[in-house]
Amino acid sequence: MDHAVTLPRPSTPIADPDYAKAVLDALASHICVLDQRGLIVAVNRAWRRFALENGAPPDYSDIGRNYLQVCQSSTDAEEAEASLFTRGVRAVLERRSAVFELEYPCHSPTERRWFLGRVTPLEVAGGGAVVSHLDITERKLVELELARLAATDPLTELPNRRFVMELVQGELERVQRFGGVAALVLLDLDRFKAVNDTYGHGVGDEALRAVARVCTAALRRSDVVGRLGGEEFLVCLPGADASAAVRIAEKLRAAVAGCALATDHGPLRLTASFGVAELLPSDRKVDDAMARADRALYTAKDLGRNRVVRARGGDRMAD
Ligand code: GH3
Ligand code: MG
Ligand code: MG
Repeated sequence: MDHAVTLPRPSTPIADPDYAKAVLDALASHICVLDQRGLIVAVNRAWRRFALENGAPPDYSDIGRNYLQVCQSSTDAEEAEASLFTRGVRAVLERRSAVFELEYPCHSPTERRWFLGRVTPLEVAGGGAVVSHLDITERKLVELELARLAATDPLTELPNRRFVMELVQGELERVQRFGGVAALVLLDLDRFKAVNDTYGHGVGDEALRAVARVCTAALRRSDVVGRLGGEEFLVCLPGADASAAVRIAEKLRAAVAGCALATDHGPLRLTASFGVAELLPSDRKVDDAMARADRALYTAKDLGRNRVVRARGGDRMAD
């Protein structure tokens, strides 16, 4: 007797176009498949949905369009990314690159979004590539928030020491490379320990927040005030020489002295002392200018506080 059994042939569903389409449609990324010239030969459901959500007419189709041209027809704001991406697609199609990836913003007036664009070569006889765009907005927002927190003083919400010192470093490099001027103003609240001792630490904290608000309001957009720590603040003034910086510091001094904070024990008035130093091309590091501002600040304290002192011996325009 013949006991041979005929086994069914293993199926090869991947060769079935409906199967391949179902796989593409199941993926969350917006995907299009390109032939070796860059013409779109297939798109998945997420790709079509994205196009419709962004104003494409219901009967639109990308099939047959040249992706390199589609990519280049983006708006001005995204022009730089679009041209980078186009170059990446071309490099993969021409097999000069194994894979290309780019994170890029895609903002509308009502919504901020970011995508990860990835181009992968299609390993088939005719060549081609798969382009996918994955929405990475959630991750990007977390990254931005982490970066903001890393640069922010939690009590006052001002830039923290690290951030403001980086700005000053950038200003010093600019002065050294391209000329121009910039200055620092170091601010230290007067007799602040007594404020805590008299009114309590909570009121002290409220006073630090009030000083942050007053200084921010008194400065121009391009000037930055940060909290160095404790009751010390640093103002970075791009474009200001020592004389201009003294005028700005004087404005800050008057603003701090003019502000009264309501407390259970009556209005609390504060004053601050200021040291002003210009950033000099001869400074080897930011600390050189900081040391000059610090010495000027201590002179201001010695002279009786609630005053502005300009650093001597370092500023180009010092008399
Ligand atoms: P001077 O005029 O010489 O600067 O006197 P000062 O009392 O301001 O200086 P000192 O350095 O002796 O004291 C600084 C005080 O600032 C002591 C500290 O309790 C207070 N301080 C530092 N950080 C904070 C803070 O985050 N919150 C509060 N409430 N107080 C702070
Ligand atoms: Mg201090
Ligand atoms: Mg102080």
